[in-house]
Amino acid sequence: MDTTTSLPAFKYHPDPVSTGAVVRDEDAPCLSCNRIRGYVYDGPVYSEKFHHLTHCLCPWCIADGSAARRFGAEFADSGTMDGVTNEVREEIAKRTPGFLSWQEGQWLTCCSDAAEFLGAAGAKELAKQLPEARRAVEQHLRDDFDLSGKELKEFMAALSKEDQPTAYVFRCRHCREYLAYVDQT
Ligand SMILES: [Zn+2]
Ligand SMILES: [Zn+2]
Repeated sequence: MDTTTSLPAFKYHPDPVSTGAVVRDEDAPCLSCNRIRGYVYDGPVYSEKFHHLTHCLCPWCIADGSAARRFGAEFADSGTMDGVTNEVREEIAKRTPGFLSWQEGQWLTCCSDAAEFLGAAGAKELAKQLPEARRAVEQHLRDDFDLSGKELKEFMAALSKEDQPTAYVFRCRHCREYLAYVDQT
């Protein structure tokens, strides 16, 4: 096992271990490079031909685009992204670890760029780890769910990382604003 190199840097998913997209596994080989690297990608993989790629790809093969090329795979849906270049779309779809969500994930954008994904969050995480993101979640619930007052408060309190509804938190790489959306089945 080769764990001498540190994890590759992902511009739009800065800490994939903390979000759970990349997990430690001492035994799982990567089907792209055929090596056991000590870490595998545990997020969604969209490929027309290969259906069992979750937990089978190492983060290095995601970072350099080789896993996407070899398996015709994408790791996130870049179709909902507005106002970004094709290069950014490509990087999100093919060279960035994605994340699991209740419905098809959305990658949020700001300042003409994709934002960095900070993780899924519930009421507990928003209170403890991501207090600055709370406002972004509340704003999203006001704008897109039409919630306010007591209803908004109750919805915020019911957010859960493990169960739905869940908030997905991003941060703009340029203006450093927090961005968020909420989904459920
Ligand atoms: Zn690999
Ligand atoms: Zn921005």
